[in-house]
Amino acid sequence: MKSKDLPKTSKLLGLQPRIDENGLIRCDGRLEYAEFLSFDARYPIILPRKNWVTKLIVKRYHELGKHVSGTNQTFSALSSRFWIISGREEIREYEHECYTCRKKKAKVAEQVMAPLPEIRFKTPLHAFARTAVDFGGPFITVQGRGKRRQKRYLCLFTCLASRAVHLEVAFGLDTDSFLNAFYRMVNRRGLPKEMISDNGTNFVGANRELKELVALLDKDKIHNSISNQGIKWHFNPPLAPHFGGIHETMIKSAKRAIYAILGNADINDEELLTAFTGAEALINSRPLTYQSADPKDDTPLTPNHFLHGQLGGHFAPETVDNTDFNPRKRWRRIQELIRHFWKRWIREWLPGLNKRDKWTKTKRDMKTDDIVLVMNPNAPRGHWPLGRIIEVFPGKDGHVRVAKVSLEQTVLIRPITKLCPLDIETSENDSDK
Ligand SMILES: [Zn+2]
Repeated sequence: MKSKDLPKTSKLLGLQPRIDENGLIRCDGRLEYAEFLSFDARYPIILPRKNWVTKLIVKRYHELGKHVSGTNQTFSALSSRFWIISGREEIREYEHECYTCRKKKAKVAEQVMAPLPEIRFKTPLHAFARTAVDFGGPFITVQGRGKRRQKRYLCLFTCLASRAVHLEVAFGLDTDSFLNAFYRMVNRRGLPKEMISDNGTNFVGANRELKELVALLDKDKIHNSISNQGIKWHFNPPLAPHFGGIHETMIKSAKRAIYAILGNADINDEELLTAFTGAEALINSRPLTYQSADPKDDTPLTPNHFLHGQLGGHFAPETVDNTDFNPRKRWRRIQELIRHFWKRWIREWLPGLNKRDKWTKTKRDMKTDDIVLVMNPNAPRGHWPLGRIIEVFPGKDGHVRVAKVSLEQTVLIRPITKLCPLDIETSENDSDK
């Protein structure tokens, strides 16, 4: 081989490359005297990024890891023979492409729906294909120059499969207003196959007006309106709970928080709409479960993933800065209200999430590698502090009350009352029935 100087910008320079008798470029140097290591490990073969051979080698190691070892594990296994330029990126790229892994992720998404027995589809459906609707309010909005006030109502649509929500303003307590809200939802989320509107006091709550609305909803009118669209509408579903206790708590606490913050906030219709969509985005950013065995490598699955039609990515809304707002900048005030909603909702809902034993007799003890939400009432808007349990401390009776949790930056020891299991578990003993 002819020797030639490398250009100063070459990525190879730092690796002290040399060409061996077979024409392979190997890394020279640092491990020369580590004789307990194999020759290959001391002088790994340098592979270029984005090259077909490199990809095949990565594929081989990924498959040796049985598709479950994370990026770092594959990387260190590879390092016993090879040094790939920007190796972790190369591996991550392949993990993304791997057909087996992609199939597995799709399966996990199916399992998410498993605890809802009557919602097993033969063919995949879009989000909001089966939707429950529920009401809240009243919300008082200011009209014109602030003299007149009007009552508005919340129509809360919940997708029974993905557990995503869609919030609409109903401008009055009549069937036409409701149908308008319904069609605004349909136009943006697609036509549902089944609708469930619960007449029970369970959803409507104690508010007299809302009770009347539900009683007054003109069933014939609704049936006429949807008759040729193939929607099945159940007005009086049998006493079966739709989601199980945990989801219902989420909906209830979200409604309570929306009402508490916006019920009398001195805002106009436009601002109420904006605030509703802000709350909707936050509710849909909540983590439901993890997609992969290695949480370090992946983002949690949220309802937003279903809405945006893909499993990857991160759609949590951005935080808004906390500087004082000019009272004339009303949009800022709405952002402030949404922030208040967030604070109140997580303060109420997260502790509720923990009280699993209210609905199920056997509460599973937390164990190592469980992914939990670490309760922090001061978390910035849209930020979900997720941690992984790395050690548990069982008491004398064998039940776990304290756990060591690893967060992004730190390790904390917390009583389990400050840790919330995620909404949906993918483990075999799912207790969300
Ligand atoms: Zn794979």
